[in-house]
Amino acid sequence: MPSSPATYRGRFAPSPTGPLHLGSLIAALASYLDARHNDGTWLVRMEDLDPPREEPGAAHSILHSLQCHGLHWDEAVLYQSTRSSAYADALDALAESNLLFSCDCTRAMLGAEGSCCGKCRERQREIDSPGSIRIEVPPDCEIQFADLLQGPQSCALGHALTDFVVRRKDGLDAYQLAVVVDDAAQGITHILRGSDLLDSTVRQIFVQQRLGYPTPVYCHFPVITNEQGQKFSKQNHAPALRNDRATDNIRCALQFLRHEQPPSTLTRVEDLLIYATEHWALRQVPARMAVPASTMELI
Ligand code: GLU
Repeated sequence: MPSSPATYRGRFAPSPTGPLHLGSLIAALASYLDARHNDGTWLVRMEDLDPPREEPGAAHSILHSLQCHGLHWDEAVLYQSTRSSAYADALDALAESNLLFSCDCTRAMLGAEGSCCGKCRERQREIDSPGSIRIEVPPDCEIQFADLLQGPQSCALGHALTDFVVRRKDGLDAYQLAVVVDDAAQGITHILRGSDLLDSTVRQIFVQQRLGYPTPVYCHFPVITNEQGQKFSKQNHAPALRNDRATDNIRCALQFLRHEQPPSTLTRVEDLLIYATEHWALRQVPARMAVPASTMELI
């Protein structure tokens, strides 16, 4: 059962697909500073849901890098790989809403945004292979929320999307379901993350509403890109952060977040973070990058 928190609880939720890089450090730091500035609790959740995409040792390496950068979490790390029964319970609850259906579409049959071809819902009895489990989005479904940086958001989700996957064909739990279940179970009140996840947020709010969970406060900041305008990620060969340059890395992340540099007399990550927590002002973070991050002086 989700807890009902009265105070600020934030989180950083990396996927262990590679080591911590500057893009993920920015996400970790922004969520950490906002939580600490608001006297909140800051958690780390390891989103190790997808073994085929995982890199061996990455989960350990990410946690080690966070520690080296002074980003210490407050409660035990939650590993999504241990949570399958909670996700199964959530699927059972969703099944009661009669919005779930099996889908055996091949990749080639999928429609826009990866939706089902539209025929599986009627063919339920004929589908004997496990297939994927999808949640139907009613055509009139609208999702609205106020993003702390991006402002009021409104999405005619039912027009944009007819359905989406909550359990994959390969039997793995889908990110959209797992995140919602865990954010609720951990009592997360504030989610700061990159704007590449805005599309996911509307799906997640839809699932929260179906499950009767509260919707956290959201804040999506711009993501850092490489020279080609691609998000920093393992796929795009973002370099791993050097733990022996943690103070430089924190300074660089603060620069991206348009925050004042701590005085040069501060040379320990702990002191940088105390300074940055005191001076944290979310309104200074740009909603969009006027200057591509790749032109910034990155280390
Ligand atoms: N695990 C996701 C990622 O690394 C982030 C999920 C989230 O913040 O909700 O992109």
